Formats: sequence, structure tokens, C-alpha cells
Amino acid sequence: MVCLDPVRPASLAFTALMTTLTLAAGAFSGPAPKSGPQAERHAGRVARANPIGLAALRYGRSLGSPTEGHLLGGAHLVETEYLRIEPSDMAGDVRWGLEPLVTMIDRAARSVRQRFPGTITSVGHLSRDGGGDVDGHRSHESGRDADVGFFVRSRNGKQLMAPHFVAFNADGRAPTWPGAYFDDAKNWTLVSSMVEDPEAHVTHLFVAAPLRARLLAYAERAGAPQGARMRAAELMQQPRGVLPHDDHFHVRIGCPVHQGGCVENPSIRVVRSAPSLLAHGHRSPASRGLVTPAPKRGLASAPAIAPLPLPQRDQPGESEPEPVDPPALLSLPVDDVDG
Ligand SMILES: [Zn+2]
Repeated sequence: MVCLDPVRPASLAFTALMTTLTLAAGAFSGPAPKSGPQAERHAGRVARANPIGLAALRYGRSLGSPTEGHLLGGAHLVETEYLRIEPSDMAGDVRWGLEPLVTMIDRAARSVRQRFPGTITSVGHLSRDGGGDVDGHRSHESGRDADVGFFVRSRNGKQLMAPHFVAFNADGRAPTWPGAYFDDAKNWTLVSSMVEDPEAHVTHLFVAAPLRARLLAYAERAGAPQGARMRAAELMQQPRGVLPHDDHFHVRIGCPVHQGGCVENPSIRVVRSAPSLLAHGHRSPASRGLVTPAPKRGLASAPAIAPLPLPQRDQPGESEPEPVDPPALLSLPVDDVDG
């Protein structure tokens, strides 16, 4: 369930938003008094002048760009029986976002749970309360970005949970976690739910090109509607010049209409040097796609991907033991999206 009343009246975000709304409405011509009876009268006028203040706070206001911005107000993503915060991303309460983003994640998690009972969605960072810099990220500053973990299964179809994101290869296997498989069906359900969300407008869904191809191939085999496949093909992309996102989805929604000050895309930057990436990412630039071109868009660019072995529940002699130990996290992951 999504927390819909995240308002903190004493917070800077509240003060800043009320000031912004007041100035935007042109209700006052001079500076606001800071204390005394005059200030109380001023506060009363603010309340009357902004009857949608609380709703606006809950919805949130995105200022600036994903890589240089802030979030005023917004909604707080809370854990439920079908949604957890990735343990490695629990610290710091980086779970704030524009209301459409937060509720979209909740809707997508419920959608997967509805189709696959018992499934739990793992979510990483959104934005901080108030937005701004988040350690390990270039973006996530303005309440429009979120990281969502891949669904992972064992050979027997059981959901596997790690305390951090785990990378997968094009063959759907995790090189650091023998016996763990990329769950095509659940991951596609998540993707299709987000790209077709009725309230949030997804503009980017960053994921490594081989996994993008894998998901589109699965969707075609599964008979998913062409509209959903086209939309997913358009939105899923591997970002240029940064980590390829082979261990989680990064979803970004667009600026809400009529929100002046929200900047849709980050400004162009110079790509970091390889040593800088290595210092955080612990994998070689080549393997992390430092110079990987953007994937072609459209359904035609999805190569045929062989399906992973189906769960073999009735063949105990052939089943693999359930992997119990997720791979160790060697260093903090970096989410380098700025595209
Ligand atoms: Zn991210």
C-alpha cells in the first residue's frame, strides 16, 4: 500500500512548496513576514489562497532535471506483502517520488503478484525526501526515477531473493549465482504493466540490450498484445556510455503537465573516464558496455532468444538443488543513468 499522506509540515520541502505555490499564484507582492501577528495573518492567507495545497504536496513537484534537480513534497513508497525495499538500498530512506511514479510501482508490483501469487517485487532507490544528490547515482534527483530489481527464479520456478541486485547474461543466467535464472514471465509482466500504466507516463526504461531482446522475444512467444510490445520496445534501452543495467530496471517518468521548472532530460555531459567507472563498478569497461551503442528501437531489432529451461517440478531426478546463497556483493553498485 502506498503512503498517501507523506506530508511533513515542518519540512523544508513543505515550506519551499508553499512559497512556490504562493508566488506562482501571485497572491502576494512583498516578502512574507517571518514572525508575529502579521506572519499568522499571512499564513492564513496562504492557506486560503492554496486550497489544493495538501493534494499538491502529496502529488509532488519536480524541479530541475533528473541529474540536477529537487523534489518538493511527493509520495513515500512503503513496503507491503508484495513489495520490499532491496536490503542493500534500505538506508537513507531514498523512497520518495512524484505520486504517479510511486503509485505506478505499487500497481506494477500488484499486477505481478496477481498473475503470479506470492511474488514479491524488489525496489531500490527512488529519490530522497526533498530530492537532490543520491550517493551512487547521477540521476534520481527530481522524483522521477526508480530502480526495480529483476525477478529471479530457480530452475524449479521458485522465486529467489538476494539482498542486492544481481546481474544476468543474455542466456538468462547469473554468472555470480549458479542456479539462478532471469524470470522472463514475471519481468515481462512488470515491464508491460509500467509501460502501459494509466497514470504515469514512462519515458525511459533502462535495461541491458541482451535482456531487452530477451524480454521482447518472450513477449512475442507468449502472445502479448502488439501494442504493449511496441511500447516496451520503444522505451527499453541500454543507456550509452554508462553501466548497461544488467542487474536492474531503471524507470523514469516524464515531467507532469503544467509543472513549470521540471526539466525533461539531463543536459549532455562528458562521459567519465574508465578509471572513474572502475572505481565504483568493479567490472571492466568493455564488459560493462562503456562504449555500447544504443540498441535499435522497434520490434524488428529483437533477435531470437532461446527460452530458458522450464520449471521441472515433476522430475525430481533432474532437478537442481535450490541455490540458497546469493552472490556476495563485492562493492556498492553504481547507477550511472543520465540519459
Ligand atoms: Zn537508477
